[in-house]
Amino acid sequence: MQNLCVLGATGSIGLSTLDVVRRHPDKYNVVSLSANTRVAEMYALSVEFKPETVVMVDEIAAQQLKLRLLQDDIHDIEVLTGHNALSDLASSASIDVVMAAIVGASGLLPTLAAVKADKKVLLANKEALVTSGQIFIDALKNSNAQLLPIDSEHNAIFQCLPINIQNDMGMADIADSGISKILLTGSGGPFRTLPLEEFAEITPQQACAHPNWDMGRKISVDSATMMNKGLEFIEAKWLFNLEPDDIQVVLHPQSTIHSMVQYKDGSVLAQMGNPDMRTPIAHALAFPQRIESGVEAFDFFNCKNFEFAQADFERYPNLELAITACKAGQSACTALNAANEVAVAAFLNTDIAFIDIAKVNKAVMNKFVNINIQTIDDVVHLDSKAREAADQQVLNIKENN
Ligand code: NAD
Ligand code: MG
Repeated sequence: MQNLCVLGATGSIGLSTLDVVRRHPDKYNVVSLSANTRVAEMYALSVEFKPETVVMVDEIAAQQLKLRLLQDDIHDIEVLTGHNALSDLASSASIDVVMAAIVGASGLLPTLAAVKADKKVLLANKEALVTSGQIFIDALKNSNAQLLPIDSEHNAIFQCLPINIQNDMGMADIADSGISKILLTGSGGPFRTLPLEEFAEITPQQACAHPNWDMGRKISVDSATMMNKGLEFIEAKWLFNLEPDDIQVVLHPQSTIHSMVQYKDGSVLAQMGNPDMRTPIAHALAFPQRIESGVEAFDFFNCKNFEFAQADFERYPNLELAITACKAGQSACTALNAANEVAVAAFLNTDIAFIDIAKVNKAVMNKFVNINIQTIDDVVHLDSKAREAADQQVLNIKENN
């Protein structure tokens, strides 16, 4: 029996995780859950999974949850609040496995706490790794934690790698295993064929309607701008100890191949399946075993053609920015990630247009290149400076409209 903590339990990944867990009551015991504000969802999860502890980061949400539990005579669930409670939850001695599924850099400290406490860490929260890079990998190196990627691309790459790299995440040299390229696939999002002149009019609702994947709103917008692929490019660099030139982005609109590893003898290994996050979640939960995830096997006789293409930077300027940041160094990545969180929130709030996201991101990234980042405090400080700069950019754009 594995004792599980799900950070970001009410989100898309959190709920998919609990759906896999629900199928295996003999294998996983839900000990703790966290969310930000969604009380009704957390109430339902608390009743079903009976965790020992629940964290609602928002104080009012925590009070509301407590009240609802008491009204229903449920007294044995401890409800905590505040951001610090997340790190305590993730590093608690009673936990074996932590699903890191908070969205954004808010997930950094709790995810790092889980690594430092030697947990099996299932990493969905790519922003945590993007924003801290080497510091995160050093923490992993200095711990007995096991890091397993949940992002479907990275999970696919992981599955196509030899066991010595799987057991040495972030540190093994891919060339030693005869690997010549990591092929990071992406669907191209909902606007892959939309005429560029129509990009200025894209609405949040259109951007959140992804053709293949059902995801949270922030990552849905990131998929539409392909900043998501950019963040994944940086994530791949750290997870698999790569140079930027080792990674090739490949557009694959069907999302059947979830990424590939190319070897120097000409072999290309791909991981395929229906686009459903329960597959990588079940893979990582059970690794090195395999369990049922609830996902149907892929039907090759009824599949559309497999298409592949290069990503066009004119259509996806955010992808180019992220690759530039990856080459430039940590401060550019931290600043870009923070700016993007602000810009996406502003777009979702209809404060700025879809095409303004890249403008905010570029201005903020350029402001913070080549700043020395040595510690997690440096990361947190730069993240906050970059958010201020991005807020200012958003304000400028609003005033000029
Ligand atoms: P989501 O918006 O659906 O859920 C986010 C979760 O985090 C919620 O439980 C929310 O309560 C919590 N949360 C939000 N802000 C918080 C804060 N400030 N402090 C603490 N908790 C907070 O997001 P999602 O789609 O589930 O994505 C979660 C992470 O997984 C992201 O980093 C995303 O990039 C990554 N990911 C998601 C998918 C997917 O299919 N959804 C695929 C790959 C990777
Ligand atoms: Mg992904």
